[in-house]
Amino acid sequence: MEVIKFGGTSVGTSDSIRKVAKIVASKIAKQKLLIVVSAIGGVTNKLDEIGKLAAAGDSSYEGVLAEIERMHLAVIRQLLPARQQGDLIGQVKWLQNELEDVCKGIFLLRELTLKSRDYVLSFGERVSSLIVHSYFSIEFEDVAIFNPMEWIVCDDNFGGGHVQFDISKQRALNDRKKLKRINIVPGFIGSSSKGELITLGRGGSDYSASLFANFFEAKKLEIWTDVDGLMTADPKLVPTARSIEHLSYEEALELSHFGAKVIYPPTIQPALEQNIEINIRNTFNEDHPGTVITRTWQDTSAIRGISSISDTVLLNLTGSGMVGIPSFSARLFRALADESVNIIMITQASSEHSICVGIAVTDLSLAIEAINDEFQYELKTHLVNKVEVEENLAMLALVGSNMRNQVGVSGQMFNALGQNGVSIKAIAQGSSERNITIVINQVDLKKALNVLHESFFTTEIRKINLFVLGAGNVGQAFLEQIKNQQQFLIDHYHLDVQVVALANSKKMICDQEGIKLEAWTSLLHKGQPYQLNDMLQLISEYNLRNSIFVDVTASETVAEVYAEVLKKSVSVVTPNKIGATSPYQHYQTLKHLARKFKSKFLFETNVCAGLPVISTLNDLIKSGDRIRKIEGVFSGTLNFIFNIYDTSMKFGDVVRMAKNDGYTEPDPRLDLSGEDVMRKILILARESGYAIDFGDVACTRFVPKTCMDAESTEAFFTSLDAHESHFARLFNDAKTENKKLRYVASFDGEHAKAGLEMVDDSHPFYHLAGKDNIVLFYTERYKEQPLVIKGAGAGSEVTASGIFADVMKVANTNG
Ligand code: ADP
Ligand code: ASP
Ligand code: MG
Repeated sequence: MEVIKFGGTSVGTSDSIRKVAKIVASKIAKQKLLIVVSAIGGVTNKLDEIGKLAAAGDSSYEGVLAEIERMHLAVIRQLLPARQQGDLIGQVKWLQNELEDVCKGIFLLRELTLKSRDYVLSFGERVSSLIVHSYFSIEFEDVAIFNPMEWIVCDDNFGGGHVQFDISKQRALNDRKKLKRINIVPGFIGSSSKGELITLGRGGSDYSASLFANFFEAKKLEIWTDVDGLMTADPKLVPTARSIEHLSYEEALELSHFGAKVIYPPTIQPALEQNIEINIRNTFNEDHPGTVITRTWQDTSAIRGISSISDTVLLNLTGSGMVGIPSFSARLFRALADESVNIIMITQASSEHSICVGIAVTDLSLAIEAINDEFQYELKTHLVNKVEVEENLAMLALVGSNMRNQVGVSGQMFNALGQNGVSIKAIAQGSSERNITIVINQVDLKKALNVLHESFFTTEIRKINLFVLGAGNVGQAFLEQIKNQQQFLIDHYHLDVQVVALANSKKMICDQEGIKLEAWTSLLHKGQPYQLNDMLQLISEYNLRNSIFVDVTASETVAEVYAEVLKKSVSVVTPNKIGATSPYQHYQTLKHLARKFKSKFLFETNVCAGLPVISTLNDLIKSGDRIRKIEGVFSGTLNFIFNIYDTSMKFGDVVRMAKNDGYTEPDPRLDLSGEDVMRKILILARESGYAIDFGDVACTRFVPKTCMDAESTEAFFTSLDAHESHFARLFNDAKTENKKLRYVASFDGEHAKAGLEMVDDSHPFYHLAGKDNIVLFYTERYKEQPLVIKGAGAGSEVTASGIFADVMKVANTNG
């Protein structure tokens, strides 16, 4: 015999019941089948709701009752030929009337006992099994239906009866001779010691099936559901979860105990006892082999799956007297057990001054009552403190039999979570060392599951989520590069870099699944009005792993929120210099926050666009070198201007040309004042480990003050023209000495300065072409010959690629 169980979605519609019949048809030739069916998907939840509404005196329960009737009748009408519907509809209506009577009673008495609740909940299976039986009687020969109340006998623990195994087995075996080729039994239901209807707990049809498999010594137990087996995580929360080919009973038990709803935990035991193979299959993907669960199975990977339980609370009991109280924990556990409070996890500090238990929020008031009752005396005498409750939590467990043989699993777990700002409230490792359980805030659950899944199932594609501000030249180039590289990064690096939010100064768009970058311009055009606060709120709301805030603006207000962003454990990547050049104290705070919240604050493109200047400097310092002097030409704009200007064209016209070609800031005075260069040398000095501020950078200006003070950009150009002789003199003075003009910045370990200099042809700056940049690092290791970095130091393409490189740096360190 083989036992096959079909879950709620498998019998959810007429189409799926037809699929079920096909699966059954493929098996009948080989052996007798015992088919366990669940209620139609969603019906048990609705029945639960009806009971609650009726007990609360809310007559809207009647509407839900009618809805259930419609659902059942719709399936019947679509499944059976019209002339064969009559009988079945009659039986279903009869049951429906019975249910209505029971609910009316609950409504009038305003009371829902566990017993009456079980009665209401059982209705789904009672009807669905009739439907499947009627249909199978048409499709197949030799079909019978059985009442599980005749077989499964429990105690009187309504809501989740404990099965009296031997009696139940005997009863089932008494009916052995009555079994036909195909035997249908509703799952989930049994009888109490007095023969009343009782359920086996939510999800209990799996258990029924396993019991029958055991009773009748089935060769195999198949559980058909709506996913490809037991998966590495709940696919509803982790889209990249994949099915696990083979598991041991213990691993399956551990995963289901910690929330893998696809199999009800008690299901394992009856199968295990007789070594019956369990196979979880997908009704909607018949060709997939699903998951096989057997006694021995060893996989070398440390972690087989991750599961979680939502809506849990922690109860923390503390007190100096606890150490001295004999069998304190035993009393605590007994008190909770007496009230049927299920303890999901326990941790105890070695000091024994505190004990912490995790339970479902639905058990909270019962648990507190039980504890207050048990420890009345100790509470009164302050030997024990009032129970502390922490709510809105979730529990997450990493499961794998091989975990005990591998070091570093918990380290990897904490690291991955820490980098994503998930704080851990409590930790427990079962003595079996088959699982590590942690408690976290419920709001972090989805993120944590995905982070850990990416971290432990390494062939997974990791998602990198960008919140991008600014869509000017550089921003556009950046988006274009991301768009072009997306597939390549997935294929070669298993990184899925997606933009989940994008804003310019007016509009903003977002999409958790990633904005379609082919259409970002038109989407943004139609976006909602932009508010910086909305963007920040979105970061918290989405709460996505591997989030990066990419500031491609030059805005001071955006730079002001970096601290807030870093505190969310979200990294900041930016070409905006305002953050890194803010007062030293603040710059330090940003660095400190990045360290503390395990995020990154990266601004490589602040100096020399995409050239790896800051990262090289950081690497030198990390490896123990010391910076003695830095010297460089950091303004591509000024280099361009001084490479062209030879008095044949007016200086003002050369600046106009640079502006028209897009080489200057919209107001070229920002370039000509040298302020931008001063900021760059300031950043390099700070990154070299020196505490200096913008005010400490000396600057000799070469543009007359009257030009700089002009009222508008236009007036500035006119004023430059008026001062042509000044610029010609600067040029000619250099020329007479066979030198060139270069705008140079330097830092000698004490002083930073920027200004126009004349360099001769022996100097590396002399031959600096176009708008190139150059930096020389003189260090303890590079004493005579400096370490030179030279190349294009401006332009949206190279800047965008520098931002991209920083994004990759964050991506590669997270997870
Ligand atoms: P059925 O009605 O067939 O009994 P359930 O809804 O009880 O189905 O269980 C199947 C569901 O379990 C899946 O749709 C999935 O969302 C959820 N689930 C949670 N954790 C896991 C996991 N690790 N593997 C597979 N499914 C899981
Ligand atoms: N229908 C019941 C429930 O939803 C039992 C089951 O489907 O396993 O809990
Ligand atoms: Mg189920």
